[in-house]
Amino acid sequence: MGCIKEDTPRKMRGLKCRECGAYYPLEALHVCEFCFGPLEVDYDYDYLRTIVSRQSIESGPPSLWRYKDLLPVEGENLVNLGAGFTPLIKAERLGKRLGLRNLFIKNDTANPTWSFKDRVVSVAVTKAIEFGFDTVACASTGNLGNSVAAHAAHTGLRCFIFIPADLELGKVIGSLIYNPTLVAVKGNYDEVNRLCAEIASTMGWGFVNINLRPYYAEGSKTLGFEVVEQLGWKAPDHIVVPMASGSLLTKVWKALKELHRLGLIDELHTKVHGAQPEGCSPIVRAFKENAEFVRPVKPNTIVKSLAIGNPADGIYALQAMRESGGVAEAVTDDEVIEGIKLLAETEGIFTETAGGVTVAVLKKLVEQGIIGSDETVVALITGCGLKTQEAVSDRIAQPIVIEPNLRAFQERFASLTAATR
Ligand SMILES: *Cc1c(COP(=O)(O)O)cnc(C)c1O
Ligand SMILES: [Zn+2]
Repeated sequence: MGCIKEDTPRKMRGLKCRECGAYYPLEALHVCEFCFGPLEVDYDYDYLRTIVSRQSIESGPPSLWRYKDLLPVEGENLVNLGAGFTPLIKAERLGKRLGLRNLFIKNDTANPTWSFKDRVVSVAVTKAIEFGFDTVACASTGNLGNSVAAHAAHTGLRCFIFIPADLELGKVIGSLIYNPTLVAVKGNYDEVNRLCAEIASTMGWGFVNINLRPYYAEGSKTLGFEVVEQLGWKAPDHIVVPMASGSLLTKVWKALKELHRLGLIDELHTKVHGAQPEGCSPIVRAFKENAEFVRPVKPNTIVKSLAIGNPADGIYALQAMRESGGVAEAVTDDEVIEGIKLLAETEGIFTETAGGVTVAVLKKLVEQGIIGSDETVVALITGCGLKTQEAVSDRIAQPIVIEPNLRAFQERFASLTAATR
């Protein structure tokens, strides 16, 4: 089959079922036809070891494509809006507030559409083009739609975005501006996703998180790769990861294991912790109940980007947390808002609700003694606060309104300094 010569070294062996191990060709497939397990890209690590080094990565571009050899792309036609290689910031002031001396913020709000979804979409749209699709689509809680619409616009692909009808205005406009067909479904994300699975099987489209999901999901590994490279090729002691479907957490753990397996880091001791809002925390509950499976819930939270009640990769996220020695924790919507404000006030980073979950869970893990004050900690801040202004608009100060003259300012300023000093 195909035209690849038998002796050509290939970095990928195929798609492999996570449950029964059956192999499939590298096509737009996502489900095992024997056991209905999810398919995952399987690499030839012996071959990868011969082509990948710290130096080969460091000499790559300042984007996620510096890890191209460890991603499931084959050609040189890489879709690049500039996703990835976002700042890793030493968080001195937030660290002080939480009692941590070595806290880092991975600021993925600095992506082209202001969330980490640009990583997965860069890979998925590259594959969509490799496979010859003329239309890309997705089921989205908001950020994914924004990113797919932008990357479709950039590459000239037709685009359909499916979202729950009750999303934040910033997320709706954040897709519409790129002029996709945006379909608002009267239902929650899990209903949108079920509908999209049916649409995907009838239309010949590249659904980035359905039939392209095995490739899409690999893009999340780059967040793990970058953290390690930016720490000087050292894995941190802890990473705190927000969870929706659980894919990001699963792939961050996979990334660390791959770096270790390829000899790019000497030691792997990182505990990977998962964070969810209480109003949608099926993975956290399963973790705490020591359950093998994740029981679906009906989401009720302001954290819409994480509001997936039936998480596709929940069991793999559970496995990753258990294998790494991490834990899962949930926080209230109120703690989420406090987390957003704390990060903004101490570090100058305005995150969306999902980042509030990360910060609030981080705080909780420090209070519980799970994270020690001298350990190296990375908090993944995955999306930007300008998209979820509703969450904080009535929880912040109001502007001070004055007449346009100096006296008016001085009057207000005098009273302000008298009040605060
Ligand atoms: C999608 C998303 C996540 C997590 O997604 P997974 O489905 O668990 O991979 C985290 N943060 C933000 C802002 C997101 O949009
Ligand atoms: Zn199978």
